[in-house]
Amino acid sequence: MKSNPQSHQSLYRSIRHRYLLGVLIIAVLSTAAYYTLLSSLSDSESTAYIVNLSGRQRMLSQHIALDAHRIYDAMLAGSPASDELTSQMRRNIHDMEAANHKLSSGLLSENWTVDLSTPCREIYFGRMNLYARVDTYLNLAAMLLSSSRHKDAQLYFEQINNSSEQLLTDLNTAVNQYQLEGEQRLNRLENLELLVWITTLIALLLEIVFIFRPMLSIVYASLKAQTEALESLEEIVESRTLKLEISNKKLKDIATHDPLTKLRNRLTLESDIESLIGLSKTHQIHFALCMIDIDHFKHVNDSYGHQAGDYILQELALLLKQETREYDHIYRAGGEEFVLVLNRIDFKEATDKLERIRLAIQQNTFIYGDNIIPLTISAGIYHSNQFVLSKVHDIFRIADTALYAAKHAGRNCIRIAQRENDDISLAKESSTVDN
Ligand code: GH3
Ligand code: MG
Ligand code: MG
Repeated sequence: MKSNPQSHQSLYRSIRHRYLLGVLIIAVLSTAAYYTLLSSLSDSESTAYIVNLSGRQRMLSQHIALDAHRIYDAMLAGSPASDELTSQMRRNIHDMEAANHKLSSGLLSENWTVDLSTPCREIYFGRMNLYARVDTYLNLAAMLLSSSRHKDAQLYFEQINNSSEQLLTDLNTAVNQYQLEGEQRLNRLENLELLVWITTLIALLLEIVFIFRPMLSIVYASLKAQTEALESLEEIVESRTLKLEISNKKLKDIATHDPLTKLRNRLTLESDIESLIGLSKTHQIHFALCMIDIDHFKHVNDSYGHQAGDYILQELALLLKQETREYDHIYRAGGEEFVLVLNRIDFKEATDKLERIRLAIQQNTFIYGDNIIPLTISAGIYHSNQFVLSKVHDIFRIADTALYAAKHAGRNCIRIAQRENDDISLAKESSTVDN
């Protein structure tokens, strides 16, 4: 998968849609749960109120019957009923009337109305006609209260007395009906809550299966693709870095090595000598620099051809390598000139070695085609223990002067570089011309 801004955008959009849907479903379900609970609470509140009210009505009917007894008894005794008794009965009548009105209409308060069920309506307005009977009962009680004649009072009392028991039974029926309806409603709400709970669980399960798991898969796939892209990018960078390093090394090799002899060229020579001068100064590690030049090389080219000359140069490079140690360095300084740097070597050893090399070249058989080409070299040698020079160019110049002296002395010999201020700047080496 390609990781680009476009795919990031579509990934973001797809995740956003999924989680918005998930959140929406949870919000709807929790709202449903909230309203179920709210409705259940308000229902249990109104059930408790109605059951309480109807119970109180039942109790009031008994109080009124008792009050009627007392008032009638007082009348029989010839003494008027006490104010307390009459006002208590009046209060009871008023309360029962209010309760009768509320229960039969469902109007519990100014802004609290409940629907009257069919059985309740039947109780109040059907065959049982409880509303009207309570009303009549309360009217009788009110008339008893206001009657002054004994005969009237007796009539009202008897009617109250006769109806109170049946009224009590029917009021009890109403209480039971309310209780029953309340319990049924609570059961229904309990079932509804259970339904909401189960629906929520199922919805969550479906969300996991159809929303969150696919969402995770999308994110995981995207991360995997990004990681893979990053890894392949790293691989590309790594391989390019490697190629670059190889190219750099090749370039450096090309820049620092002679293509014909594969020897180091003059470019690194100066910096190498500079470090040797430093080492020689600080650690007393001595070195020798030998300037080598082929004798009459022009003649080789002229007699055997330029290619033969190239071959001689390559062969000479190999021979020099064979004759030196691993930590000595050989450079092709230009043309048919070579520089040999002998590390960690004392003066005597260095001159002996150079002499051996000169002899080895002289004795070597250079065969090119049908020709055996004789070859000699001349060389000048500077050794750091002889006298100290701290500039590279001075060392080159002085070694070159020694080489020139060797040429001047007839070639095929080596000369040792001397201090420039000395009258005799170049002394003849012990081994002289060998031809
Ligand atoms: P001497 O040093 O003994 O004085 O004589 P010489 O003939 O060696 O002197 P000179 O320095 O004048 O000539 C060097 C010759 O080396 C000139 C040039 O044609 C030849 N030469 C330089 N570089 C190369 C090379 O890469 N290949 C070949 N074949 N010849 C080269
Ligand atoms: Mg030369
Ligand atoms: Mg030469």
